Amino acid sequence: MVNDDKGFMLVHANQQVNKRQEYICCAHMVFDMKTGLVTYTPEKVEGFDLHVYYSKWADGQIFPAAKSMQNDVTCFCDAKAIRDDPSKVAVSSIGPALRKNRTANLPFDYVCPTHPQYQAYVLDYIEGLSKENIQGVTLNLYHFPDQEFCTCPRCVELWRQSNLNWVEWRAQTITAFLKKAKALVKGTFAVEMYPDPVLAKERFGIDFDAIAELVDYFHVPLSSRDYLTNYWVDLLTRDFIKILKKPVVLELSAEMPTDDKLDALLKAVAYVSRHNPQAVLFLVHDSENARQICRFAVHNSEYRSWLEKYRFEEMNRIVEGWAKIY
Ligand SMILES: [Zn+2]
Repeated sequence: MVNDDKGFMLVHANQQVNKRQEYICCAHMVFDMKTGLVTYTPEKVEGFDLHVYYSKWADGQIFPAAKSMQNDVTCFCDAKAIRDDPSKVAVSSIGPALRKNRTANLPFDYVCPTHPQYQAYVLDYIEGLSKENIQGVTLNLYHFPDQEFCTCPRCVELWRQSNLNWVEWRAQTITAFLKKAKALVKGTFAVEMYPDPVLAKERFGIDFDAIAELVDYFHVPLSSRDYLTNYWVDLLTRDFIKILKKPVVLELSAEMPTDDKLDALLKAVAYVSRHNPQAVLFLVHDSENARQICRFAVHNSEYRSWLEKYRFEEMNRIVEGWAKIY
């Protein structure tokens, strides 16, 4: 009996070891985190694998395609379109989806997602980009402004005709728009999102499972002025990697003017590298800002010994790569 118990314990222990080896092995197989940039200039920077360029902005400005880059298109936030034709704005019982409506507390001015001419205008722009030699298209702000929106007569009528409940109708409306956009894109197709892993569907009409079938990856922006407090970055990264059925590409803000903030940013990147995102993107002002990040990491011996000491092997590999250039 005692022997049996010991035998069982031994087998059990071996299984645990095997499981762990399997886990480590798997982790190594997929563990090849890339780095990239999100920029306002169509310029690549050495040392980064992915380049995302903002080609259509929330203020309404549009730019020509950035060749061989991922072009990021802001869909339903367009301050200029609403200034030109205020009837385009998404509406609700708490007023229009405008920044100046402080009851709604929105960061941008939102067009109603079912506005047919505006939708056609965005799709035309995406089609135009896709005729150029680009890497692909990422869609941003392609959803409803929030839970209360949009109750314009057109949306209410479309909802009635659908025979769906309100949450489902809004989600299907957004997914249908993404399907139309995807059909126009030849290369990599991705979407950003408001980083809410729990209420995305009921608030914004973002149905992660339906969208996973359309995209190559999810681009999750975790923007901040600094990462001196970083538990929430780790927390949201783990949540999104667990729930999303496609690879996750994270975006962190890197327009950092001080050494303390750059140090905190690079430590936050090291921590998230342990959760296996496909890539981490840095939002930068310009290419000099991007090179500053690399130089800071490469020449900061305290940071590099911190990576060594706590065995951030993936981040170490990235910084060693930068050291060959910077
Ligand atoms: Zn509407």
